[in-house]
Amino acid sequence: MNAVIITVGSELTDGRVLDTNTAFLARRLDRLGVRIILALSVPDDHRQIGEAIRFAMEKTPGLIVVAGGLGPTEDDLTSPAVAAALGLEMEPSSQAARFVRSAVRAGGELKPHEAKQAMMPDGSTVIRPAGTAPGFIVRAGASVVVALPGVPWELRAMWKDAVTAARIAELIKAARSPARGRLNFYGVGEAEVGAAARQLLGETGPGLDLSICSRRGEIMLEVTAESKHEDLVQELTTTLKQNFSDSVYSEGKEIEEVVAAQLTAAGATLAVGESCTGGMLGEAITRVPGASAFFLGGITAYSNNVKRSPLKVRQETLENVGAVSEPVAQQLALGARSLTGADYGAGITGVAGPSGGTPEKPVGLVFICVSSERGDVVKRFDFPGGRAQVRESAATAALHVLHRKIIADSL
Ligand code: ATP
Repeated sequence: MNAVIITVGSELTDGRVLDTNTAFLARRLDRLGVRIILALSVPDDHRQIGEAIRFAMEKTPGLIVVAGGLGPTEDDLTSPAVAAALGLEMEPSSQAARFVRSAVRAGGELKPHEAKQAMMPDGSTVIRPAGTAPGFIVRAGASVVVALPGVPWELRAMWKDAVTAARIAELIKAARSPARGRLNFYGVGEAEVGAAARQLLGETGPGLDLSICSRRGEIMLEVTAESKHEDLVQELTTTLKQNFSDSVYSEGKEIEEVVAAQLTAAGATLAVGESCTGGMLGEAITRVPGASAFFLGGITAYSNNVKRSPLKVRQETLENVGAVSEPVAQQLALGARSLTGADYGAGITGVAGPSGGTPEKPVGLVFICVSSERGDVVKRFDFPGGRAQVRESAATAALHVLHRKIIADSL
């Protein structure tokens, strides 16, 4: 089954707000085996919303998901624009009125802006609001339109009710989840992985779709096919995993989740001493639920003073080789370990830029150390890009150095 996603909001089309709703909806629909054939954003403009709906109807039959513009204010135009595009009247809905009344906890008459949210395109099924704006589902020729609010947490909360509503559930039942294989790589080029995968695809035969994307040095590969080709997908990913055994770190999981699972399984703890990443490594680790079981804490040792105390980086090292150096990364890792008593310590120091680079130590130079009872590993990286990319790449690289060190320690 095909789907079109339409996000509504002038703040999206003028770039003030990053459209995260499309990504959320696309991932959820993809998991259900629904193919996204088009995703577009339109401003809060009656005509543009209507044209987007009509355009989507030309591209489907299927599901048209609209997010945003269901609020109580003047610029919230999605419901009347959808109704006009479909040639439907706006009718007061007693169920929507009940939902709005209970959301605003008001008895009696709704205020005009609340009553506006209780008006629905004729023939709509109303979706219970998570905030104050109800959603709706309405037939649009051979397609079905589902409209949900744009506030990201409201959209997420209401998504479940939307997909289980009879009209949508029926459509989705017809979509069969595809066979899917995922592999994530680090420390190998996108071109190399792509070439190897394409060669295998050529050998496996048609019917398999390959997508590869890279982010901060990580490469994410996904193979999809109709469910009847499950075996071929399995075969391809198993072969790639064998051929790239040093570089594959997961079958779709993020590196912080992989490291969290490793530390949990080993019953080991971690502490970090970060300079140029300013706490990003600690942030990535604590993104994983349950991190308190293994993460003891981190010190953002930005100034040399904080590097010296409490992390015990030696003054003579700072004077002799400078703060961005292999020995300082090592002393940050050791300092984090000895300060907290953790089994693993990670240290990061580097030149994030834009200023501060020299010919010997250019912007992008980063040293990362992971220290444990079994010894220390220090790596040098030369990351491309500006400040944000260097910092993100460094935090990601530290997780990968940690990942490999924990594997090495377990051998
Ligand atoms: P409400 O009445 O609850 O505001 P709504 O459907 O009218 O719901 P909008 O007014 O479109 O929602 O957006 C509400 C908030 O959600 C705004 O802060 C907006 O920037 C944000 N938002 C809307 N769409 C998106 C999106 N696609 N991605 C990220 N944020 C979004």
